Amino acid sequence: MSLVVKGGYVFDPLNNIHGEKMDVFIQDGKVVEEASGEARVIDATGMLVMPGGVDIHSHIAGSKINIGRLMRPEDHRRAPIPRGPHTRSGVGYSCPSTFVTGYKYAEMGYTTVMEAAMPPLGARHVHEEFHDTPIIDTGAFTLMGNNYFTLKYVKEGDMEMLKAFMAWLLGATKGFAVKIVNAGGVENWKWGRNVSGLDGVVEGWDVTPREIITMLAQANEELGLPHTIHLHCNNLGMPGNYRITIETMGALSKVRPVPGRRRTVHVVHCQFNALAGDNWMNVRSGAQEVAEYVNRHKHVSLDLGQVIFGDTTTMTGDGPWQFALHNMTGNKWVNSDVEMEAGAGVVPYEFKPGNPANAVQWSIGLELALEVEDPWRVYMTTDHPNGGPFTSYPQVIAWLASRQARTETMRTLHKACLKRSGLADNYREYSWSELAIVTRAGTARALGLDSKGHLGVGADGDVSVYDIHPYKWRPSQHRELVKAFRYAAYTIKGGEIVAKNGQVVATPQGSVHWVDTRVPEDVEARLLEDLEEEFKKYYTVKLSNYPVQDYYLGKNVAHKPKEVWR
Ligand SMILES: [Zn+2]
Repeated sequence: MSLVVKGGYVFDPLNNIHGEKMDVFIQDGKVVEEASGEARVIDATGMLVMPGGVDIHSHIAGSKINIGRLMRPEDHRRAPIPRGPHTRSGVGYSCPSTFVTGYKYAEMGYTTVMEAAMPPLGARHVHEEFHDTPIIDTGAFTLMGNNYFTLKYVKEGDMEMLKAFMAWLLGATKGFAVKIVNAGGVENWKWGRNVSGLDGVVEGWDVTPREIITMLAQANEELGLPHTIHLHCNNLGMPGNYRITIETMGALSKVRPVPGRRRTVHVVHCQFNALAGDNWMNVRSGAQEVAEYVNRHKHVSLDLGQVIFGDTTTMTGDGPWQFALHNMTGNKWVNSDVEMEAGAGVVPYEFKPGNPANAVQWSIGLELALEVEDPWRVYMTTDHPNGGPFTSYPQVIAWLASRQARTETMRTLHKACLKRSGLADNYREYSWSELAIVTRAGTARALGLDSKGHLGVGADGDVSVYDIHPYKWRPSQHRELVKAFRYAAYTIKGGEIVAKNGQVVATPQGSVHWVDTRVPEDVEARLLEDLEEEFKKYYTVKLSNYPVQDYYLGKNVAHKPKEVWR
């Protein structure tokens, strides 16, 4: 049960290790000082060794991705995956089936992936699909920004009940973090409308997005949850929206963070929310303005939502935005409203190199990554599959590490990319340590997953070994980099070799991470009384049938916040 990764160049930024030649020992699934007895040896001489990848934002399980799978047979036909000696068959390019999702992440050296939007009523579906997604550890973020009870307690200004509800809902859905999507806008979508601005009115509630977001953020910190609020800002996809993004970040600067962290918000797939200009004809990059704000304020982190050219499937809890996208493209569209709590839409989309707006969008993601100075607060994602499928991560890594890779892509794009963004003027190239931060160390830290994203003693035995020599590689060799990160030489999950040279060789079940937080008994009693009454009046399910049963979870890790109820 023990294993040693021998002689590789280790990049473990959380432990201040930056490319030292050293051995990593794993015993009984955990990193140890030195393995006792006979250990299996993996020769990593001349290779790059990092903790297993940790994806902070992806759509891999539950209703939205499944709608994508259902509505896009063409996506299945494009990528049939035959069964292998250790794997099942599957299909899908932008909406891969569950098993394939686990395999493809493992092949790239990723071992933990967070599903970024779980509607509470659809929680069972998410957990069922987690169960069918092999190898990787998972967790899901529970949608709360347009929930009936959130709106009710925000309207009443009842912080105690809001906190009690959030804690209860995380437990009831076995969720890991608080997700907010277009606060108030999805509620207004019930009347075919959206909200205008942070101070727009939510129909029938007399509350504003600003009030919803700041109160949820404050409650999140008071509950001491491992992750900050995970925020999809208002006005997503609308030119000029970089202003509301900065305004939203500003509103959250006054929230008091839980002791031990400075952050109060993670802004998701920021590329879609860093657009300048007035319309899609003259849209330009607002990345510099957003990055400038982030550089000056420590309470914000963000992820990219990097665009990948080609066909993909967009899916988000932002129902009104998906309707707008359907109108813009004429592509097929599915709307999915979830009674009392959330909504979603799914629309196929093709990012085209010759399209000026798409070329600008491509540059915005990379500009954000390069202009934000602190890699601990900007993470690599494609908002799979919205910007593009997660299988394109190696290409994004190459763009970050090689200016030549960016230039070569830029030459194939509409010239708007050069004229309406500052990307061409940016010479920064990510170091190996920075790459390790934006793909595992930083994301694990932001999520509050203490045993992930590093290789210190006691960490989970999740390791990726890439066949690339960190001191001989040059940015001109960006194609080699893509290849190395696409097919990890070894992916080790919990001390077991799960992939070798990009081939899955074992398919253990991963763990589901969730937050188990308690509230004082008297407060919980008051909450349950209120829930019971409202459920009877408005829900189509009984309260007693609502929480996800424990047996849905299987293997899991319950995170108990230290700072409960202050
Ligand atoms: Zn997303």
